[in-house]
Amino acid sequence: MPREFLRCTTCNQWDWFSEPRAHRCKPAWRVWIGDHHDPDDPDDGIEARADDAEDAAARACEEWDADEHYMLDYESELCVVRPETDRSGRATRVRVEAEAVVEYRGQVLEDES
Ligand SMILES: [Zn+2]
Repeated sequence: MPREFLRCTTCNQWDWFSEPRAHRCKPAWRVWIGDHHDPDDPDDGIEARADDAEDAAARACEEWDADEHYMLDYESELCVVRPETDRSGRATRVRVEAEAVVEYRGQVLEDES
């Protein structure tokens, strides 16, 4: 069976799928961002798939901030992260910062003649 690069229907990540199945979903985390979510409400916050709490908080902030880029105006957001399987369990606090990235691009000009 040829290897296929597909989007996982469970975790939404792109990865290689083949027999035997190569892809394994990363663990699910619940992330409460700054003043925007209530960590005392286990159902508030955002689910993020990642290998650890730091990456989960960064991914959740990236998703939450994708349209407006509010986080560029703040120094950082303090996130509370717990495993999705234990939303009332021990919390990890993670500070997430955002920065703009400069992008360069070329554009072919028409000849002046
Ligand atoms: Zn997956």
